[in-house]
Amino acid sequence: MLDFIQLLLDDYNNILFVRGQRNGNYPFSHSLLVGDYLIDTGISSNHLKKLSKEYPINNVLLSHWHEDHISGNHLLANSKFLCHAKDRHPIEDIEKILPYYNVENTDAGDEFSTMLGFYGIKNTHIDECFKENDIINIGDYLKLKVIFIPGHTAGHCGFYEMNSKIAFLGDMDLTRFPYYATIDSNLMEFESSIEKLKKIDIEIAVVGHRDPVVGSNNVKAELNNFKSIIQKRDERILSNLSEKKPIHLTDLKGLNLIYRRYNSENFEIISELVMIEKHFDKFLKEDIIAIKDNGYILN
Ligand SMILES: [Zn+2]
Repeated sequence: MLDFIQLLLDDYNNILFVRGQRNGNYPFSHSLLVGDYLIDTGISSNHLKKLSKEYPINNVLLSHWHEDHISGNHLLANSKFLCHAKDRHPIEDIEKILPYYNVENTDAGDEFSTMLGFYGIKNTHIDECFKENDIINIGDYLKLKVIFIPGHTAGHCGFYEMNSKIAFLGDMDLTRFPYYATIDSNLMEFESSIEKLKKIDIEIAVVGHRDPVVGSNNVKAELNNFKSIIQKRDERILSNLSEKKPIHLTDLKGLNLIYRRYNSENFEIISELVMIEKHFDKFLKEDIIAIKDNGYILN
């Protein structure tokens, strides 16, 4: 067996964890191979070429449109591509990626475009869109259910194999860094998606950027940890607001309210502001804050 492939459960030899290059750290991500269905293609072109030589990949399910999950699409030209309708456009037209990160016409955007070119990302034609609760029958007995878990992107989906209880959760990735920094991200949906996942009996959670989490209690605990990180961000952001003096989004620029440190300053400072804005959207909906003089005050 290829050294980056791992059987997750002995009884299920056609469900394989496929480890991404650099252990799935960005710009790579992990995949799951279920029969002839591959979920996401960001493992690296090197891994993907080796994988597709040994295993037929007739179908590709994309969890969402982010570049680190679709970068290998062009290497699987004979496969059928599926995603959720809400994530279809930036996959079919990668020119949309920069504006979705809010970095169009910035230095960060220029650097980012170079990176996209370097990883060979190309437009992908989507053959079919799946939707919440669709069940994909694979082979004689595998049933892969689509779990619609938006928030990270508008059409972000996970997949749950109903017999083995193995799930692929994409970038609901149970790391220390819940991410909702594209313009189609939504923090309230992100948190509802965490709650939705807690209600599913998941025995093994495969995610984009860390090792699989094994055991349903561990999966639930990791989902709670993931949510608690968002709550800490809520508190940090709110501690900058007062009942009298309005705070504007730009006043919070570069304060490390979400990123502990900025690795690529320009890009991450922009991402942080996009994420803080998602918290403001939530606080407004929950009546925790109000708008005053184009800024925000505590209610
Ligand atoms: Zn992502």
